[in-house]
Amino acid sequence: MKPIVIVGLGLAGACTAWHLWNRGVAFRIVDSGKKGSSHVAAGLIHPVTGKNCAVAEGYAHHRAEAEAFYQYGEKQIEKKLWYPLEVVRLLGKAERKKLLSKFEAGPAAEWVIDMDLNESCRGDIAITLRGGARLDVAEFLRGSHAFFCKHGLLEEREFSRASSDTLTILCEGAQGLMRGSPIAWKHRCAKGEILTVHAPSWCQSRLVTGRGWLVPVGEDCYKIGATYEWSQLDEMPSERGLCHIENIAKHLGGEKYTIRSHVAGIRPILRKSQPVAGMILPDVYVLNGLGSKGSIHAPWAARSLVDHLLDGYSLPSHLSLAHYFDSLRQSS
Ligand SMILES: Cc1cc2nc3c(=O)[nH]c(=O)nc-3n(C[C@H](O)[C@H](O)[C@H](O)COP(=O)(O)OP(=O)(O)OC[C@H]3O[C@@H](n4cnc5c(N)ncnc54)[C@H](O)[C@@H]3O)c2cc1C
Repeated sequence: MKPIVIVGLGLAGACTAWHLWNRGVAFRIVDSGKKGSSHVAAGLIHPVTGKNCAVAEGYAHHRAEAEAFYQYGEKQIEKKLWYPLEVVRLLGKAERKKLLSKFEAGPAAEWVIDMDLNESCRGDIAITLRGGARLDVAEFLRGSHAFFCKHGLLEEREFSRASSDTLTILCEGAQGLMRGSPIAWKHRCAKGEILTVHAPSWCQSRLVTGRGWLVPVGEDCYKIGATYEWSQLDEMPSERGLCHIENIAKHLGGEKYTIRSHVAGIRPILRKSQPVAGMILPDVYVLNGLGSKGSIHAPWAARSLVDHLLDGYSLPSHLSLAHYFDSLRQSS
């Protein structure tokens, strides 16, 4: 096999690198040093997501794989990365009629620990779920960066062109999708903003979700998010975003907090937020489209691509680039 070059050290590139490292296969990483969305991500993993309270297909399987993978990462970089969490899903008055039944029977009900049907002062009821987690994405990337640097495997530069002497894996995130090279992707990249606040009076140990989310990150600090914006794809925190997230903070946490940071990034989204992997040109592969769920999907998607390259296994059909192009053709 030709020498492998991974382009990008966000979640996609880092997970690919660790799988290759674990298999004892030589590789190099090229990263521009421009921080992508992984440096912004809250790293949330939770079973029941979205406005419709849906459970993603294969959630339990992907979560188990992600947990084992990041625990392997913890040993390699000697840092804590993985924090299991209970999740509280709040349901407001208007949502209850449509959504409460989802927690009583069906896929979401399997994750329920408790339902408190007494209304809070804000009119919400609270459903407690098991199976959530938070990945400390920043720590994972810092540790991976330091580890691969120490082993002389990381070059900090802009990658421009794949050489025919190497096998290139493009893990370029939203920057790659928006650049439109080597192909013009039909992307749905979305800008997102997050606040980190200090709020000693909140005393919350669980991930709280509803209209937005709030997660404890230690030392009385919480991350709160997030916005979705499709038209203005820049990485600048905005006044509008701040206002939106402060409303979430007040609803899910309370009035008393101090803002520590306000950041923005761009989620790499293709079709239904499903990742895509496969050969895009001879000897050039891609892993992208991790969407809003990079933390849970990156270990599985990167492992599937590595198994495909090293052992000749087929890519799962819903991950494969061929399937992505077929679905585009069918929808046009
Ligand atoms: C506000 C917000 C909140 C989020 N919250 C969560 C969450 O709670 N849970 C979750 O799972 N996900 C979350 N995400 C999504 C998550 O961030 C993404 O799924 C994930 O980070 C994508 O990783 P990536 O490696 O594909 O891209 P990136 O993180 O963007 O990494 C790409 C890397 O490639 C480099 N690069 C690109 N082109 C080149 C080139 N030509 N040469 C060299 N280097 C290059 C970039 O510099 C970058 O380092 C969130 C995203 C946002 C914006």
